[in-house]
Amino acid sequence: MKPDRIPGHRFLHSPGPTRVPDEVQDAMRRQPMDLADPRVDQCIAACDQGLKRLLKTRDADIHMVAANGHGAWEAVVENLIAPDRAVLIAGTGHFSESWAVQTEALGRRVVRTPWTEGLPIDADAVEAALRDDAAHAIAAVFAVHTDTASGVTSDLDAIRAAIDAARHPALLVVDVVASLGAAPFAMDALRANVVLGASQKGLMTPPGLAFVAVDEAARAVAARNPAPRFYWDWERRRSEMSYRRFCGTAPQSLLMGLEAALGLIEREGLAAVIARHRLLARAVQAAVEGWAEGGALGFFAQQPASRSVSVTTVAVGAGVDPEAIRHTARERFQVAMAGGLGPLAGRVFRIGHLGDLNPAMVLGCLGGIEAAMTVQKISFGRDGLARAVACLAGDG
Ligand SMILES: *Cc1c(COP(=O)(O)O)cnc(C)c1O
Repeated sequence: MKPDRIPGHRFLHSPGPTRVPDEVQDAMRRQPMDLADPRVDQCIAACDQGLKRLLKTRDADIHMVAANGHGAWEAVVENLIAPDRAVLIAGTGHFSESWAVQTEALGRRVVRTPWTEGLPIDADAVEAALRDDAAHAIAAVFAVHTDTASGVTSDLDAIRAAIDAARHPALLVVDVVASLGAAPFAMDALRANVVLGASQKGLMTPPGLAFVAVDEAARAVAARNPAPRFYWDWERRRSEMSYRRFCGTAPQSLLMGLEAALGLIEREGLAAVIARHRLLARAVQAAVEGWAEGGALGFFAQQPASRSVSVTTVAVGAGVDPEAIRHTARERFQVAMAGGLGPLAGRVFRIGHLGDLNPAMVLGCLGGIEAAMTVQKISFGRDGLARAVACLAGDG
């Protein structure tokens, strides 16, 4: 018989949902409040202000929605893209393609730039596609900052520069679902017009809350868009009243959780949070470098500089079943990783390393993976964990 309780805790190393800190769980345990309770408005205001500081934007409107990241994608398309306009979606792999499919399902035309496996967004291809669009049918460029499937983070400044160089009026829309609270990001400095995110990754809050930050230019484009919409409508949601802001009752528990999580990031200090993610990612990468010497696996992301600080995608060679490694890691050693998405299914496993994490947790995760690979008789270099220790100890 399987025991119904795991001694200790299972190490959650998916790149979202991520571990929820005790402070966030405690905040979410509070009783619901009536719609006129001023504490609801105070919580919403704290989330607004906290998100603006985290995004580094002074004036953008924050729209939070009771939805996951796909809901934020839908809100962007429905508000921003008129039915006769197109979207340029920069190829990053699974997530850019999923966003493209959803955008097309909503009746909008999509122009895709090609994606090469293991590489970040090709900014030259973005510039070329915009130059080809002499009639300016493209209303916006959609860019995924960190593609959670490939483990690649793209250079957003290069995409901004590509739009500028093409002298194209397209808006820049950035998906920071997997990177916010882990990698450096600054909305105003980037001149991003719309930024979207979700609660369950670097923001350390359970799934179900998404947000969109909208600048003045994007708001004006949305206001002129005749496409019918109601629930997602940004103009309708611009209100002091929480019942209007959320087009109905606000998701109070998730908002209280987010407020607490944003408070934790501020207490640690954003610079320290980012440095911690960089260090933990380096430790994981040091381990993967060590493992790779056994010949059976290696990095999916080909350029070291574009390897994500949130998630590492490990590519396995022919004859290695990543699902067997994952299954053993989870069921026998209590380390839960993620598998390959879309075309990467069966070719990779993914180690999430973002959110509420410290060095010992990362070493536990890496040790559990080594144990699982040993059980599975994978030919991996045996000093992966030792390299991660050396990295964390400051001499790796
Ligand atoms: C997770 C993720 C999404 C989708 O979020 P859901 O909450 O699962 O809908 C979108 N974009 C990126 C980059 C992601 O990592």
